[in-house]
Amino acid sequence: MKAHEYQARQLMQAVGIPVPASEVISKPDEAKAAFEKLNASKAVVKAQVHAGGRGKAGYVKLIDTADEAAEHAARMFGDPMVSKQTGPQGVRVRKILLANAVDIEKEYYLGIVVDRAKRCPVMMASAEGGVEIEEVARRNPDAIKKAWFHPHLGLQRFQALALAEMIGLVGEQAKAAVGIMLKLARLFIDKDCSLAEINPLVRTPEGQILAIDAKFNFDDNALFRHDDIAALFDAAEENPAELKAKEYDLSYIALDGNIGCLVNGAGLAMSTMDIIKLHGGEPANFLDVGGSVSTEGAVEAFRIILSDEKVKAVLVNIFGGIARCDVIAEALIAAAKEVGFHVPVVVRLEGTNVEIAREMLEKANIDQLHTATDLTDAAKQVCACV
Ligand code: GDP
Ligand code: MN
Repeated sequence: MKAHEYQARQLMQAVGIPVPASEVISKPDEAKAAFEKLNASKAVVKAQVHAGGRGKAGYVKLIDTADEAAEHAARMFGDPMVSKQTGPQGVRVRKILLANAVDIEKEYYLGIVVDRAKRCPVMMASAEGGVEIEEVARRNPDAIKKAWFHPHLGLQRFQALALAEMIGLVGEQAKAAVGIMLKLARLFIDKDCSLAEINPLVRTPEGQILAIDAKFNFDDNALFRHDDIAALFDAAEENPAELKAKEYDLSYIALDGNIGCLVNGAGLAMSTMDIIKLHGGEPANFLDVGGSVSTEGAVEAFRIILSDEKVKAVLVNIFGGIARCDVIAEALIAAAKEVGFHVPVVVRLEGTNVEIAREMLEKANIDQLHTATDLTDAAKQVCACV
């Protein structure tokens, strides 16, 4: 689960990481009052969306009058933000943060993720923070310094101090950065984060060290023990089809192709996508209905796949182990009745109760439904349909 920047700021503030004062608005006509409330000579207007790359997209703007605040807020609320991370249709802005702007002498980067290979969290720090950190990671990975730490013992002061030194901070500023690193590392562990990133962490001309942007992601599997974090969930930022799928315990991920896939089991879903690609097709989604799929769940799965306008054909690939082929056949018949197949649906069933299932499908005589003899045949048939 992802959090918005304004939520990340609240979390940081709560543990004492220094963050400039800010206000959040949800309508353009609140911008002037928010600016006046900040009572600052200049402010920064920032779109609150989960996608990054806001600065480059023109959705982080420095302003020094209430009128400018209103003008940029109106534009950001009005036009979807298109950045490297959003796709061409962009994302709608529903909240805007107005923060006291700070003078920046230098921008740094701090971030924590789990290092899967080393099986522990890693704190990364760089003197080349700002909007180009992905570029830095690619072009000059040595500019990103790392310290691995034990999840129970946490980041140690000596490690933070070494990182601060490596990114060129000394004296009071190194001390301030160490404090921030230790607090960020504690927050990462305490809240079960999968990512905790401050970019940029800035040094002002007066020598203050401040966090002016942050991104926090949380482990979904740990949300049950963090009501405060679960409450930060923003459904408006999620793909509606993926949300719907979650309701029915289906794991669904939308992709860019035009062949819908309905599969039981994540491994089988992966190989189904591979075989579609092998025969020249492009999957429109990843959909795993799981081992113990019900008729309602499978009907919902069809509803989700067929509501995607890009889908020109569907491949149903079921290996009946725990799931029974007759249940899937029943779901196919129900889906054909309730949702209607407006595109070809190629079905490959194998395993438990497959004979019964085949008989059921034959009897139902569904328009647009094609049965396949095996997986290769199924992939060939579905690729020929699009
Ligand atoms: P992002 O592009 O989505 O990562 O948004 P950020 O909040 O990181 O802002 C992008 C860039 O805008 C930063 O790297 C800064 O260079 C600049 N910026 C953001 N806030 C301020 C501010 O308070 N003062 C100044 N001078 N620049 C800022
Ligand atoms: Mn940033």
